[in-house]
Amino acid sequence: MMNARQYEESLRKLNLNVYMFGERITNVVDNPIIRPSMNAVALTYELAHHPKSEAIMTATSHLSGQKINRFTHIHQSVDDLVKKSKMGRLLGSHTGCCFQRCVGMDALNALSMTTFDIDRKYGTEYHPRFLKYLAFVQENDLTCDGAMTDPKGDRSLPPHQQHDPDLYLRVVEEKPDGIVVRGAKAHQTGAVNSHEIIVMPTISMRQEDKDYAVSFALPSDTDGITYIMGRQSCDTRKLEGKTFDVGNVRYGGHEALVVFDNVFVPWERVFMFKEYDFAGQLVEQFASYHRQSYACKVGVGDVLIGAAQTIAEFNGVSKVSHIRDKIIEMNQLNETLYCGCIACAAEGHPEPSGTYYVNTLLANVHKQNVTRFPYEIARLAQDIAGGLMVTLPSEKDLLSPEVGKWVRKYYQTSPNVPLESRLRILRLIENLTLGTAAVGYLTESMHGAGSPQAQRIMISRQVNMDGKKKLAQKLCGITEGD
Ligand code: SF4
Ligand code: FE
Repeated sequence: MMNARQYEESLRKLNLNVYMFGERITNVVDNPIIRPSMNAVALTYELAHHPKSEAIMTATSHLSGQKINRFTHIHQSVDDLVKKSKMGRLLGSHTGCCFQRCVGMDALNALSMTTFDIDRKYGTEYHPRFLKYLAFVQENDLTCDGAMTDPKGDRSLPPHQQHDPDLYLRVVEEKPDGIVVRGAKAHQTGAVNSHEIIVMPTISMRQEDKDYAVSFALPSDTDGITYIMGRQSCDTRKLEGKTFDVGNVRYGGHEALVVFDNVFVPWERVFMFKEYDFAGQLVEQFASYHRQSYACKVGVGDVLIGAAQTIAEFNGVSKVSHIRDKIIEMNQLNETLYCGCIACAAEGHPEPSGTYYVNTLLANVHKQNVTRFPYEIARLAQDIAGGLMVTLPSEKDLLSPEVGKWVRKYYQTSPNVPLESRLRILRLIENLTLGTAAVGYLTESMHGAGSPQAQRIMISRQVNMDGKKKLAQKLCGITEGD
């Protein structure tokens, strides 16, 4: 297993084609806007070596019997699934942001099942191919970007009817030694912190869309792949030098548009090729695992609740009954989220491939809660923090020889509370609810792993409505045939 430093060094060896603000970024690792997101992924390596967290952060490979980072593991038991949820909360609470590495783990687990099922139906060899790839990922402790979301163009049209056929990623050429693909994947979490990109289709498909039913893995610096970094609210504060105005002074997340411009994929890295009838299954399995992964938001919620309690104490209002009640409300909401991600894991089961799979109904209910509760927790945090969170002068004003004395004089609550601490915690709440980290805590909670309606469809499909009707009808004496 790599440690944080080895991970950072491994990224330096990659030759990624990354653009931000219209310019090529040659040194990705040290770029001040990207670096905090690299720090967050590095923690997934670091904590695997910590005596306190290694039981959660590591697992035993079912391929090699070796100790591996859990992010490269294929779940072999309910205990593995539960530990995965706990790992999400742990890392969210230590980073206060999206730590990015879950998408690859969820892609590997979904592929371990779908490749097995395709082979059973068609006699193909995707599963052994996949296991060989998995062994490579585990041995080298790699971070993988699980790339699912296509740009999708006109949402009312299937892939093959789009005005531009590349709006969904597709196979454009078949060669004796591999395939050529073209298209893009949007909102790619942690893409430029990844060694590998694992591409999957984004929706269920029919025969006319078979060129779009493709899954494969490539090294992230393969020729023809370009990364265009997404902007985040307040991102350029990171260019102001070392300042607590960034809110989270250590960690962050990132997303990117990843473009595949006629990229060659050798056959040994292709895991689905035109088996359109399995596209929907792969999407559903990845999505259900990733909905479980939103355990991360419970950890970020821990940070925000801690920040709200801190500012309440700094402001001298922590004992006021309505403030206490709001903190209780935040905790109740956050722990309810925790219940969901633990429950879908505890109710998991093995699939034919042997991989343990979450209870998909509960995973979807969990994610649906995540589309709502963090917004309420954030609202309560802003309520407790007060308006100063958004009207606060900059750190530079605090340090100014001319006006610093006024900032100190008028923003001091009590001589016992260091002013800088008060300003720092307000900036953290701003960061989590309005700034760069709000991408992860709020918008990603809404749309990541599928937008709310996607979960509602799954919930409606998976509840046993007939069973519920029978229960009710029996109790009031309705007999069959009535
Ligand atoms: Fe992992 Fe959460 Fe980020 Fe998704 S949003 S990659 S689950 S940390
Ligand atoms: Fe996400």
